[in-house]
Amino acid sequence: MAHDPNCIFCKIINGEIPSAKVFENEDVFAFLDISQNTKGHTLVIPKDHQQDIFSLKSETAAKLFSVVPQIAQGIKDTFNPIGMNLLNNNGEFAGQTVFHYHIHILPRYGKGDGFG
Ligand code: 5GP
Ligand code: ZN
Repeated sequence: MAHDPNCIFCKIINGEIPSAKVFENEDVFAFLDISQNTKGHTLVIPKDHQQDIFSLKSETAAKLFSVVPQIAQGIKDTFNPIGMNLLNNNGEFAGQTVFHYHIHILPRYGKGDGFG
């Protein structure tokens, strides 16, 4: 399992930086995004440190995406949004600021909900 000691998300996985955990299994970790762009804004990450979609191994992607629907369902049940965006930024120009692959789950509540 690759670990980058300078990576914020690797530090969140090992508990060095505290986070509000939403889900965890052997390969995947999910936690509330500190920005809370919308209520319940969550990040889903592989425990294995991989930078972006271009370096993400297909095996890691499979493990990650296999639990995304259940995480999304849990967020839906908890926050009762009317919709949900799933997003992934790759590269600085595309808005990536943390270079450990992650999927944003953004619950949507209607116009003026803080996103879009
Ligand atoms: P990106 O811009 O790379 O797609 O998304 C990175 C996300 O990580 C941002 O939405 C940012 O708010 C979130 N983030 C950065 N540092 C921390 C942190 O220390 N804790 C948590 N929970 N989220 C963070
Ligand atoms: Zn990392």
